[in-house]
Amino acid sequence: MTFITRFAPSPTGPLHLGHSYSALLASDMAAAEGGHFLLRIEDIDRFRCRANWEEQIYDDLTWLGLTWPEPVMRQSSRVSTYEKALKTLWSQGLLYPCTCNRREIAAAAGAPQEGVPLHGPDGIIYPGTCRHVSERSGPIPQDLPLRLDIEVAARVVPDLFRTAAQPYTKTAVFEETGAGPEGETGPVTFTADELRDTIGDVVLSRRDMGTSYHLSVVLDDAAQGVTHVVRGQDLFEATPIHVLLQALLGLPTPVYHHHKLIRDDAGKRLAKRDDARAISKYRADGISAEQVRAMVGL
Ligand code: GLU
Ligand code: ZN
Repeated sequence: MTFITRFAPSPTGPLHLGHSYSALLASDMAAAEGGHFLLRIEDIDRFRCRANWEEQIYDDLTWLGLTWPEPVMRQSSRVSTYEKALKTLWSQGLLYPCTCNRREIAAAAGAPQEGVPLHGPDGIIYPGTCRHVSERSGPIPQDLPLRLDIEVAARVVPDLFRTAAQPYTKTAVFEETGAGPEGETGPVTFTADELRDTIGDVVLSRRDMGTSYHLSVVLDDAAQGVTHVVRGQDLFEATPIHVLLQALLGLPTPVYHHHKLIRDDAGKRLAKRDDARAISKYRADGISAEQVRAMVGL
């Protein structure tokens, strides 16, 4: 099997040191395996993405010495694929509309013992307010956010949580060759109940987008034939939802390699808008691509 990986930035700001680590590592791993390094532009958020940032991405990555096959996949050109997948899930009764805003979700989630509502990969875990009141039949609603009913999904998904002997309680697994935030590596297992309790009913179709990060990423990785996903540890927690979506949509699950996050001098993760560590800034300051490599430990 040919090793295929990708770097999938969103053109919402300048790439910084953390991005250079992610892209260089993925490209190095592909080269070491005699495989391919692909680029994908994650531009589903049309309010935050800008053409000039996309141009800057190509520029920065080229300066770093990276190459990738053309044409580059851009999520904005894949709307019909996302629509089709949503229709499939809708027709199985796995989605429901929900217009609850952040404030309503926080209020409904309440404050458990420790005083902070439980958080999942998308923020506060949705308490399920609309799960049993929203209409799930008829044509798929347009322009309404749609959530995945994770418990029903876990019950109907073929193979992931079920065997003939265990129709729901089987443990799902994905292979991790890097590490999660707690050092999770090797086969990482999770149960349907853990999915429900630590992730909840995530939004699969956002208003104004007609998709979401979770839905697009699994469809695009499959369409690009990605065998190894190399990305930051901050996305480790979202991986079980990706594995569930792959099973629901009949897509293969790649191997995952979550890598360390590059931190600033105070130990804080680099923010998207950390312009001080923008690749273009180092470049303007006369730093070489080799020096950037050394700075991130490659
Ligand atoms: N577009 C995502 C980001 O900019 C990366 C998604 C992924 O690698 O799965 O963080
Ligand atoms: Zn709601």
